[in-house]
Amino acid sequence: MSESEILDCGVSDHSGELLGESMRAMVLETTPGRLRLKRLETPRPAAGQLLLRVSACGVCRTDLHIVDGELSVPKLPLVPGHEIVGRVVAVGEGAGDADEAGLEEGPEAFRVGDRVGVPWLGYTDGSCRYCRSGRENLCDNARFTGYTLDGGYAEYVNADRRYCFKIPERYGDVEAAPFLCAGLIGYRCYRMAKDECREEESAGAIGGSGRERDRYLGIERLGLYGFGGAAHILAQLAVADGVSVYAFTRPSDSSGQAFARKLGAVWAGSSEELPPDTLDAAIVFAPRGDLVVRALEAVDRGGRVICGGIHMSDIPSFPYRSLWHERELRSVANLTRADGIRFMEAIDRTPVETTVHEYALENANEALDALREGRFDGAAVLVP
Ligand SMILES: [Zn+2]
Ligand SMILES: [Zn+2]
Repeated sequence: MSESEILDCGVSDHSGELLGESMRAMVLETTPGRLRLKRLETPRPAAGQLLLRVSACGVCRTDLHIVDGELSVPKLPLVPGHEIVGRVVAVGEGAGDADEAGLEEGPEAFRVGDRVGVPWLGYTDGSCRYCRSGRENLCDNARFTGYTLDGGYAEYVNADRRYCFKIPERYGDVEAAPFLCAGLIGYRCYRMAKDECREEESAGAIGGSGRERDRYLGIERLGLYGFGGAAHILAQLAVADGVSVYAFTRPSDSSGQAFARKLGAVWAGSSEELPPDTLDAAIVFAPRGDLVVRALEAVDRGGRVICGGIHMSDIPSFPYRSLWHERELRSVANLTRADGIRFMEAIDRTPVETTVHEYALENANEALDALREGRFDGAAVLVP
């Protein structure tokens, strides 16, 4: 675009940055489909929103499910991406402060220049029975970043300030991107495995002391099925809590198993095998229903199996004895603000290394292909 087309957008941008009228974005127009590089109008923040200049956006398996047409209702055309790290360049009316906005509780106030992260859950109505009972992750009218709202495969994105989280300063933008979904969802799975979420649901609150609630609640042996973006972050937090981590990968994936051991797993092996010890809980991150049955066989009496994916192949039938003795099976959907706040506290206390592979924004299709084919350990991150 020519110099003359660059205009100040006129909103309360105190950074002095001139916002162009258009931006580069990777756009999905049909499913299943490939993304196309397009110029879109640069968004302007509505009341309660922050406009962010994207500095990094992680590529999540859910993005693959969206472009492959496995999730049924994306907005189209769509800018995918829900692991966004960006800096506030403009503040919509009332979005700088919770009181001004007349919004409910949010994590904190935001200013131009702040670095924030934006997760999958991008909007809730705050009024349905789920929101009113501390289960906003199940909101009747929830909207999702990079699925029913435009996301971060772009130079700029609008975000609801209530679902923006400040990221601990020790992390760089690219290394922090996988925290926003892989990290958060993994952490909610972990809290679910420890049965912490129920306590919170009954309290119906987002507050509380992270340190108190994050105490290790009796899981000694935790299995992680699928050792990718989510597991490699969670393994480090669990190991720091004194939990023994058992990592399950594809049978031939010796590099994935070595990666898991390097991050502190006491055992790493094939998902076709039973581990050497019975587990207290297992989290299934791989999108394979047969692993749910494997995980139920691997957990001890009273053990929990948590399914962390948004999409999975069918779960084969299994004998009732695999569930007997009060074993539990649950899925984890989305996240709450409480998860976000507690997760950021946890990674501030415990330094976590993310293994990232950087791709230019316009190479998003290549990053998605590499993820689909399992060509790397860790996570892919787009940089506009
Ligand atoms: Zn709601
Ligand atoms: Zn995700």
